[in-house]
Amino acid sequence: MLSGGPSSTGGVKKGPFLAPDVAVVGAGPVGLAIAWRCASRGLRVVVHDPAPGSGASHVAAGMLAPVAEAYFGEHELTGLLTASAARWPAFAAELTEATGADLGYRTEGTLLVGLTADDLAEARRLWAYQQGLGLPVTPLRPSELRDREPALAPRVRGGALAGTDHQVDPRRLVPALRTAAERAGATLTATAVERVSDLDARVTVVAAGCGAASLTGLPIRPVKGQVLRLRAPGGVAPGFRHVIRGYADGEHVYLVPRVDGEVVVGATVEERTDTTVTVGAVLRLLRAAVDLLPELAEYDLVEAVAGLRPGTPDNAPIIGPLPGRPDVVAATGHHRHGIVLTPVTADLIADLITTGVANPLLAPFTPDRFTTEEGHPWN
Ligand SMILES: Cc1cc2nc3c(=O)[nH]c(=O)nc-3n(C[C@H](O)[C@H](O)[C@H](O)COP(=O)(O)OP(=O)(O)OC[C@H]3O[C@@H](n4cnc5c(N)ncnc54)[C@H](O)[C@@H]3O)c2cc1C
Repeated sequence: MLSGGPSSTGGVKKGPFLAPDVAVVGAGPVGLAIAWRCASRGLRVVVHDPAPGSGASHVAAGMLAPVAEAYFGEHELTGLLTASAARWPAFAAELTEATGADLGYRTEGTLLVGLTADDLAEARRLWAYQQGLGLPVTPLRPSELRDREPALAPRVRGGALAGTDHQVDPRRLVPALRTAAERAGATLTATAVERVSDLDARVTVVAAGCGAASLTGLPIRPVKGQVLRLRAPGGVAPGFRHVIRGYADGEHVYLVPRVDGEVVVGATVEERTDTTVTVGAVLRLLRAAVDLLPELAEYDLVEAVAGLRPGTPDNAPIIGPLPGRPDVVAATGHHRHGIVLTPVTADLIADLITTGVANPLLAPFTPDRFTTEEGHPWN
């Protein structure tokens, strides 16, 4: 097992008890899944969070989309996304088995669409790149598109199917992970951690989303995203089944239908640290959404909310021990992908903690790509 850092003095969990094997800072999807995996392997785990599930996951759409999210210049990240998405079916089944929870996990796939000829041209460039990586993007004729989703606007010029891009409901996922972690023996404590050195555990995992920046000094910055939640009238399911991602007059938008009638419409990407909802963003999101799927104009608008993605300089997560501190492991910086990356992050961190050996998959994502041991102000 990983260990070997300096022992701490003074802190949140001191006292005449056996120190935990693992302290996890942050009870978002990443921290809770790590706690579940570690506790399931017999480790004593304590999770610290004053407001579990209140981070980016509360806002997230829950798309599990390694194909649609494969962007130019991010091929190593695409590899990790693909590896994690492949774990999702078993992960969801195991979590449901452990808790009985309905995760809102859906596998109908994702339709990628372009409203205008320009939108379609832009989309096709990305599809060609994704196909070049060997990812399953299947162009569809307009008639095939409408056979799959008759509710799409007649104006939609064309599209493609990313059949392996699925979805889960993060607002169901996080409570289920908490239940699974607690049933496996992990303890949750409602403390905000100010310094890693306050914790008395053999290994500390910093899975605090944007909060990891001040705890580790790692270059994590908040990236604001505004999102809307609509509801189909009459308590019925939305009139479409696939996740729909598209370009509408140059505006990028996604529509995520839940079985219970909810539709998530997102999202802005803003280099801002506030969580204010703006009229302009709501207007742009709704216009793009209704342009692609006119029936949404009849839906109830039930929520407009903004969250902060934990972004990094290369858009990829930071997973692994801090340089010179094998007892402090980062699991953060998941940016737009923390839901899809939850299974692989949790499994590989639990492997690392129990065996002391890092899976080669993690090599491109370690903290030392941003830091050096010398002179870094580790807490
Ligand atoms: C608009 C939007 C849409 C998104 N859509 C998707 C999507 O479709 N698919 C996808 O995969 N991802 C999506 N994401 C990204 C995803 O939500 C994040 O990557 C993910 O939530 C990161 O999980 P996390 O557990 O690391 O952090 P968070 O979910 O942010 O949770 C961090 C937790 O740490 C706690 N914490 C912080 N500081 C401290 C501290 N000092 N002490 C103790 N606890 C602390 C917080 O209270 C919080 O509970 C989206 C994000 C946004 C904002």
